[in-house]
Amino acid sequence: MGMLGGVMERYGSYLPMTSSTPIVTLKEGSTPLVRSRVIGPELGCEALYFKLEGSNPTGSFKDRGMCFAVAKAIEGGAQHIICASTGNTSASAAAYGARYGLSTVVVVPAGEIAIGKLAQAMAYGARILAVNGNFDDALRLVREASEQLELALVNSVNPFRIEGQKTGAFEIVDEIGDAPDFLCIPVGNAGNITAYWRGFNEYKDKTDGRVPRMMGFQAAGAAPIVDGAPVLKPRTIASAIKIGNPASWRYAEEARDESDGMIEAVTDDQIMDAYLRLARQEGIFCEPASAASVAGVLRMPELGVSLAGRTVVCILTGNGLKDPSTAEQRASVELEYVEPDFAQFEAVLRSDPKSSL
Ligand SMILES: *Cc1c(COP(=O)(O)O)cnc(C)c1O
Repeated sequence: MGMLGGVMERYGSYLPMTSSTPIVTLKEGSTPLVRSRVIGPELGCEALYFKLEGSNPTGSFKDRGMCFAVAKAIEGGAQHIICASTGNTSASAAAYGARYGLSTVVVVPAGEIAIGKLAQAMAYGARILAVNGNFDDALRLVREASEQLELALVNSVNPFRIEGQKTGAFEIVDEIGDAPDFLCIPVGNAGNITAYWRGFNEYKDKTDGRVPRMMGFQAAGAAPIVDGAPVLKPRTIASAIKIGNPASWRYAEEARDESDGMIEAVTDDQIMDAYLRLARQEGIFCEPASAASVAGVLRMPELGVSLAGRTVVCILTGNGLKDPSTAEQRASVELEYVEPDFAQFEAVLRSDPKSSL
């Protein structure tokens, strides 16, 4: 084992392990907490941090809970796992399934999965069923399948997923030595906000009882918790949070209410603005859904929440490489073609009006 093991090795004492729970790991977790250089100072924060969950083995936070859900499935004798997915859950399930010899079925909404995520599920060798419907339809099908057939369900309705995911909160407290004032997080199926809230509460002895205010952000076209009603046809560029009827809806509201937090909406334009600012001002390439947390922070002053002197952590849930088509469409930069001749090359280099070469 290296200095830092995976989630189960590092935080096993906080997880419902038994003597027959196997350690399942791809060394997930222990992700970078990177301090903002531009956005945080501009907002007057004491410190704004980005937690780079895209640095997990399959490129999203889903690995934190998947390792433990798979461990529990193996402990229970399962040979098959199944999940519905907007993409990242399927990539994660397929990876751990492959590593531990389980057959994996992933069920995705047809035509709505970012290409990088689909490529992962294919590479890891999962069986992929594309439903003519949305994520909520896919989740309904796999829930029923897991009740009727010998398939272990590894969506975040599986309580072990939430258990594993709460370790993200532990890492934040372990690293900054206290709870932040605000935790900003994208909300889709609402498992992750539920998990972080549980994690901060279970770690109160390390923070003198302090917990963050939980600030959840949904995409405006897929904001059932903000609207107070399910959204039948969710719409947003942020495919990972394109969910109209979150499974953990009630727990997300509890996290919000118990922490004196908020769940608010951010528009696709605000999400894309935050996505590009993260890349171009902070050097961080996350996927669109992840940028919802930063779009949310940028809205907080207008929502009447002062950030002056505050410590804020934004969870950047997935890696930008998951969704190269969005980058190509929204951040496109014209290629400048050059001949392999230095004189011409130099002329081109000097021709940029924005540079002083
Ligand atoms: C799954 C996912 C989310 C949403 O998390 P929930 O637990 O469903 O609220 C956000 N961003 C990314 C990149 C995800 O993969």
